[in-house]
Amino acid sequence: MYKNNNMYSINNKEKICVGIKIMKLIIKDKNKLIKGILISVLVIILIATIITSAIIGIRLILEYIKEKDDRKINETSSFPTEVYGIPVHTQLIEEGTIARPGTKRKIKYIVIHETDNFANGAAAKNHAEYLSNNNTETKSWHYTVDDKEIYHHIPDNEIAYHAGDRIGNNNGVGVELCVNEDGDFDKTFDNATKLVAYLLKEYDLKLKDIKTHNNFSGKDCPHSILKDNRMEEFVEKVEVILKEDK
Ligand SMILES: [Zn+2]
Repeated sequence: MYKNNNMYSINNKEKICVGIKIMKLIIKDKNKLIKGILISVLVIILIATIITSAIIGIRLILEYIKEKDDRKINETSSFPTEVYGIPVHTQLIEEGTIARPGTKRKIKYIVIHETDNFANGAAAKNHAEYLSNNNTETKSWHYTVDDKEIYHHIPDNEIAYHAGDRIGNNNGVGVELCVNEDGDFDKTFDNATKLVAYLLKEYDLKLKDIKTHNNFSGKDCPHSILKDNRMEEFVEKVEVILKEDK
């Protein structure tokens, strides 16, 4: 009986020893596990930091490139005498006036407008005269187009005030389409597509760079083109002219 008891206690002791060993192993494994988790978390944080830094760095570089590009200016302007058979007259607004300060800039867009002047005779020449004699306000644009001819008021590489928006004014060439009631608007529309095709080619711009006054400031301009949903037709006509010109 005694012997049996002794054996029993030995067995129990062994069991306790084995238990302690297992516990030690579990604790050791737990430490390993915790270490593993900690290392994984640190590695993830490190990778996330590297990726975030890389994204921020790339963004800064892109912003720098864009700003540098915006600071570039077109050194010269073209002065066409005709575009695809339509005569272009140059009658520049006096330089150094509020309407034409002479600030050089980068040409990035062509901005389409309508004069909203329905009076008989309110054609391109009439608007050229108006701008020549009314250069005391910050209101100006580069070209006026009617059903027969085009007038050029400000060199294309100079700022003008037509878009009601800093970017539109700084980087856009303003093109006004006459809507005088004694004119043929469809012809004016076609003549404007010819001028815009010429300008896109001249300044290496794309069809997407054709904008409306509305795109910049939200104004309802060019009124009739927007009302009749004709901007797509305008751009398509420009595209056809450029394709045929290749
Ligand atoms: Zn406008």
